Amino acid sequence: MRWSWKIGTVAGTQIKVHVTFLLLVAWWAVMGYQEGGSSGAVSTALALLALFGCVLLHEFGHILMARRFGVRTPDVILLPIGGVARLERIPDEPKQELLIALAGPGVTLGIIVLLYAVLRVSGGPVHPFAVTPESPFLAFLLSVNIYLLLFNLIPAFPMDGGRVLRAILASRLGLVRGTRIAASLGQMLAIAGGLYGISRPAPLLVLIAFFVFLGANAEAAAVETRAAGQGLRVHQMMVTDFRTIPIHATLNEAVALLLSGEQREFPVVDNLGRTEGILTRDNLIRGLSRLGPEGTVSEAMTTAAPAVPPTLGFQEALDRLRASGLPALPVVDARGTLVGLLTRDNIADLLLVRGARR
Ligand SMILES: [Zn+2]
Repeated sequence: MRWSWKIGTVAGTQIKVHVTFLLLVAWWAVMGYQEGGSSGAVSTALALLALFGCVLLHEFGHILMARRFGVRTPDVILLPIGGVARLERIPDEPKQELLIALAGPGVTLGIIVLLYAVLRVSGGPVHPFAVTPESPFLAFLLSVNIYLLLFNLIPAFPMDGGRVLRAILASRLGLVRGTRIAASLGQMLAIAGGLYGISRPAPLLVLIAFFVFLGANAEAAAVETRAAGQGLRVHQMMVTDFRTIPIHATLNEAVALLLSGEQREFPVVDNLGRTEGILTRDNLIRGLSRLGPEGTVSEAMTTAAPAVPPTLGFQEALDRLRASGLPALPVVDARGTLVGLLTRDNIADLLLVRGARR
């Protein structure tokens, strides 16, 4: 997910905010200012901060339940449609995913019950569906939490309802088919919601529909890739016929190597054959304009190219490749010998071939 900023870390989970969420906050603050001047803007900002807190509590419901099943959660991202806690993997048991998906709405339901009780006891106004930033603070918070709950139960990715549906389908039909059906349903809902949003016109609904459509696509693609690569290890996925480049070579020599074949990324080796980094095509082009043709490979290469062992499993290898942001990673065995090159292109080709054979 591009266009997001990390704002902090809680219990090992990074909290990120997406640019569209900030736009929503800004839009709401402007509305508050128009209604009530600067005090209106301040009270709106406070209300949003409280809303932000409720969304995070909801997400930590998912995160803590995921921990119980040994699933790590590297980050949670705040979008206009709420938060999305990214799970490192889908739990093996559909029942576990069901419980993780329900834990967030469970927390929100708890907040609703608590706010309702407080409002009732204190004799405050209770208008669950009259949500405006000008409502009394707790009444506002109650309303948005009810919306949050209902919205999250819509059966479409990346909302919790989509995960609940997938978990139920997956327990009968298997993960891949279950996800495909749940994703298609989510996309149909998104298209219907988007068209309705255009006809009103309701720009926020269109934005939400857009995110739901993308979310469904991403979920289905991730699950299908994982299933296609099941059981593979790095030594079955890597390129073994490749060229290396000496660390002291000039960029001119690197250009000659690049243009002599199809290879785009070159492991950089020292005199003893140890891997020191990787020279990507981007490294080479940037190095050329910065250092000229007589610059050396050592000045232009990426040194932070984590080597992967040939025994590593498919999903872990894919995650490391993605996390590196590089098109390729060197494969180095236990004795420190460079034995292959793990590239995105090669993995894509391999999955196509496996799919065709099946
Ligand atoms: Zn949730």
